[in-house]
Amino acid sequence: MKIDLHTHSTASDGLYTPAELIKLAREAGLSIIALTDHDTTNGLEPALAAGQARQLEVIPGIEINTDISGAEVHVLGYFLEYQQAAFQQTLQTLREMRVTRAQRMVAKLQALGLNITWERVRELAAGTVGRPHVAAALVEGGYAASVADAFNRYLGRNGPGYVPRYKLAPLDAIKLINSVHGLPVMAHPAGISGLEHLLPSLCEAGLVGIEVYYGEYDAQTVEYLKSLADYYHLIPTGGSDYHGPGIHPTQLGARAVPEESVARLRTSALERRRTPAPAFELPPYRM
Ligand code: AMP
Ligand code: ZN
Ligand code: FE
Ligand code: FE
Repeated sequence: MKIDLHTHSTASDGLYTPAELIKLAREAGLSIIALTDHDTTNGLEPALAAGQARQLEVIPGIEINTDISGAEVHVLGYFLEYQQAAFQQTLQTLREMRVTRAQRMVAKLQALGLNITWERVRELAAGTVGRPHVAAALVEGGYAASVADAFNRYLGRNGPGYVPRYKLAPLDAIKLINSVHGLPVMAHPAGISGLEHLLPSLCEAGLVGIEVYYGEYDAQTVEYLKSLADYYHLIPTGGSDYHGPGIHPTQLGARAVPEESVARLRTSALERRRTPAPAFELPPYRM
C-alpha cells in the first residue's frame, strides 16, 4: 500500500488543484494521501470529493509554519475537525498576516529596483500566499532562473527580499491543532539544531508524531530520526512534500510510509476525540 502524508495543492503553494493532485496520486499508485496545505483547509473538500470518486483515501491535514530562534519548525496536523469556526478564523488571520508579509517582501524587492508587483504575486497565488509565489514572480520577471534560484538570491532567510513572518512558536501550532482534535506531527525535522532539547516540551503539549520518511532524506537521517521517534514514543510519519514540478525535488508518493504509522495515527485520533478539545487563542503579534 503506497502512502503519502505530506502534499500541497493550489490552496497554498502547490501547482496542482486538489482534484488534479488526487488524479496524479491515483496514477502514481497511491492508496492514501494527506493534503497538508499551509495555513488553510480550503483544499480539503475538493480533495475529499475527488478521493471518493477515485477510491483513494484522503486524510485531512494542514501545515503550520513556526519559528524558533533563527530556524523554522513546521508542524503538520492530521484528522482535524477543521470546520470549527474559531479554527477557521485563526487560519484566516494567519493568511492575512502572510499577505502583509508578502507585500512587504515585494516592497523590499521593488526598492532594490526589481520590477515586480504585488498584484501579480496575488494573481499567482490562488489561495494561501507564500514566498514561492513571490519567487514565481521573480522568475517571470527574469530576475531568477528558477524558484530555487529566487530563494537563493532573494528570499532565503538572509536574502535581501526576506521579511520575517508573524512569529508563531511550535507550541502555538500544536495547541492550535489540539483545539480541533487534530494530531500534531513535526515536519522535516532534520537540521533543526537543538531538536532533542525541543522535543520533550512539544511531546508534553501533545505532539504525536515526527516525520522520518521525508522527501530526500538519506538512510542515515531516516535511521537517526526513527531512533528519536522510538525514544519519544512518537509515530514515525512522512511523505514527499510534493508541490508540483520545480519547487521540491521529490515526486508524489516517492517516499514509502509504513501502513502501521497510519494505523497508529487513526488510533490516536480516536483517543483524542474522547476528551473535549481545549480552546486556542493566537498570541499577540510579535515580529
Ligand atoms: P513561506 O511559507 O512563505 O515562508 O514559504 C516557505 C515555503 O517555501 C516552504 O513551505 C516551501 O514550500 C518553499 N521553500 C522554502 N525554501 C525553498 C527553496 N529553497 N526552494 C524552493 N522552495 C522553497
Ligand atoms: Zn510549501
Ligand atoms: Fe514545510
Ligand atoms: Fe510542506
